Amino acid sequence: MQVELKIKHKGLILVAVPLLFELVFLAVLSGLLRQADYKTWQEMHSKTVVYESSALSRLFHDAGIAMGGYALTKSPLFRERFDSIVSSIPREFKHLQKLVGRNSSQKGSLKRLETYTNSGLHLLSTARDAIEIGGEGVSRVRSLYSEMKGVSKNISTELDNLTAESRKIEEDGPNARKQSDQMVRVFLAIGVLFNIGLAFVLSYFFSNGITKRLFILTDNANRLARAEQLSDPIKGTDEIAHLDAVFHNMADALAEASRKERAIVENAADVICSIDADNKFTKISPACKKLWGYEPSELIGTRYLNLVISDDVEETAIATRALRKGQHTASFETRTYRKDRSIVTVLWSAFWSPTENSMFCVAHDITERKLIEEALKESERRVRSIIENTLVSLIVIDRFGMIELVNPQTEKSFGYPAEAVLDQNIGILFPQFMSAEDNFIEELFAQASGRIADLEMMRADGELFPVEFSLSQLETNEGTRFIANILDVSERQEFEKLKREFVSTVSHELRTPLTSIRGSLTLLNTGMLGNLNEKGERMVSIAERNTIRLINLINDILDVERLASGRVEMQFDNTEVSSIIERSVESVRSFADQHSVKLEVGDLRPLTRVYADGDRIIQVVINLLSNAVKFSPKDSTVTLNIKEETEWVELQVIDRGRGIPEKYKALVFERFQQVEVSDAKRKGGTGLGLAICKGIIEQHKGSIGVESEEGKGSTFWFRLPKAPQGEAVMA
Ligand code: ADP
Repeated sequence: MQVELKIKHKGLILVAVPLLFELVFLAVLSGLLRQADYKTWQEMHSKTVVYESSALSRLFHDAGIAMGGYALTKSPLFRERFDSIVSSIPREFKHLQKLVGRNSSQKGSLKRLETYTNSGLHLLSTARDAIEIGGEGVSRVRSLYSEMKGVSKNISTELDNLTAESRKIEEDGPNARKQSDQMVRVFLAIGVLFNIGLAFVLSYFFSNGITKRLFILTDNANRLARAEQLSDPIKGTDEIAHLDAVFHNMADALAEASRKERAIVENAADVICSIDADNKFTKISPACKKLWGYEPSELIGTRYLNLVISDDVEETAIATRALRKGQHTASFETRTYRKDRSIVTVLWSAFWSPTENSMFCVAHDITERKLIEEALKESERRVRSIIENTLVSLIVIDRFGMIELVNPQTEKSFGYPAEAVLDQNIGILFPQFMSAEDNFIEELFAQASGRIADLEMMRADGELFPVEFSLSQLETNEGTRFIANILDVSERQEFEKLKREFVSTVSHELRTPLTSIRGSLTLLNTGMLGNLNEKGERMVSIAERNTIRLINLINDILDVERLASGRVEMQFDNTEVSSIIERSVESVRSFADQHSVKLEVGDLRPLTRVYADGDRIIQVVINLLSNAVKFSPKDSTVTLNIKEETEWVELQVIDRGRGIPEKYKALVFERFQQVEVSDAKRKGGTGLGLAICKGIIEQHKGSIGVESEEGKGSTFWFRLPKAPQGEAVMA
């Protein structure tokens, strides 16, 4: 298992290991030196022991000599000497005992020596006493002397025993000293060698663990700067390994970024390229294949101006020069040739880098945009020409009614030059307008937004004229605007008036003779003017029927025209609905009987009243009932219902006839509109009945309509506003 160490740990090892080694080395060395010292001391000690032993032995010897002298001479000098020697023996022994005392192996020998010394001392003192008394004592001295010899011998033996070891030590002393000196030297040599070795090992360890790794790290940093591949990651968990991991992460991030950058450049829809000072492509993205039809390799090294069409070369060269002279960034459009010589318009976005002496460009294909712009311009031209040539006055206003634009027709219709009305309120074109503060403009917007309003406007000379006025909303970059569509209908109204007058005159002119013809035919038919033969009777009947139809048609036409021109005077009053219904049903009853159709009236509330012209409403109900009867199958029922709400009353005429197809539901209320062409002939209608009903109901501010399911029947309905509470007039 490899132990991963941090730099601080390695540093600690570098310091601690030699230190530890030095400590051990010093400890051992001091041990060795102490051992050597001990040996020296031991040698000295041994010498002292030997010396002291021999001193003790000599004392006994000297005591013996002094005693002998005393015995021979009886001289007190000998005696004194003897006493002095004897008295110093115990001291000497004590001294020796102290020297040897610590050595346990010599304790027995010392004990024995003590015994012998004491007995020696005793013999010596006994011998002195014997000498002093003289006589027999002398012979006693002799025996004591021989005893003394024995003791002396024992003492010598014990002293020999005692000093044998010391002598050995003494003898071995130089050798032992030499040995320990040698040991110290050897140890010193080993220590020095080990120290050198350790220094090498540690420096290797340091170099391997730090220096070498630092070198790899530096190398990786340089590689990173040069964007080259890094060496394998440094193993370990120390700071260097971490730093190296950071470098590797940075390198990975840079590689990823450059991969992305490359991917962007290579996949960009626009061409990305660099161009050197000679205007030659040095690098170009693959999009050039799509833009110009060339592979990048075909363009690199060629001048980009070669692509530009001759008409645009000069302008492009000028733009490029300006870029280099300090403008640094620019965008310009040029038309360029593709490989197949077709032309593409390119928008260049260029950046000049003085340090790299190169131009970096993005070339964007704007051919389509240009075409769209052209198409837009064309369409704008067309719209403008329409606006300028239309016979309708068009005025663009903001939400406050301020005029922003007028077309030539406005100038013509209103007699104002454009400058006179621009920035003015559109209200100046209306007679009712007082000032920008009044709420006229608000009302105008309410009236005409999204629908056509019939209004009266005023020309520059003050003349009033009728118009169809509508406002449509327009969202522009500058906000919401409104277009006022103004159609001068004065001529049309004049024409309509003439037409109505003509129709009315003709109808009146026709109605009078026709009425008299009808009278004559009736007389003929009744036989009051003489009998006719059968054929004659049939002919007169047909003539009478057709005359009646013609008179009805003329009446209807006159009605419609009068309603349209507002010339029908209505007699509005609070009118009871029940009365209207009764009278209408009464009128249609015999007609219904003829068709074998039953008339049925729903629940009526007698007091329900409407504010209406009763006769006209009866005309409407009769019309709806007659239609319902006409289009009902035999033996079916036509029902008249009333629906009442707070504000209005609704009358419904329900039949079970053929129904009205969806697309005719609105059309049947228009003039001369019939679902089937044969209806006029077969059912005897004019196609004007419902148009008259609509005209009457609208004059009452009501509404009219139909709901129907084909084949199942129709429900024609109309609504009228309820009358205010009050007395009913019609009974
Ligand atoms: P007309 O005098 O021809 O009846 P109207 O204006 O009253 O004229 O009706 C127009 C047309 O509407 C009719 O010709 C007919 O085709 C259709 N119509 C009106 N009422 C009904 C009805 N109740 N059922 C089916 N069709 C109807």
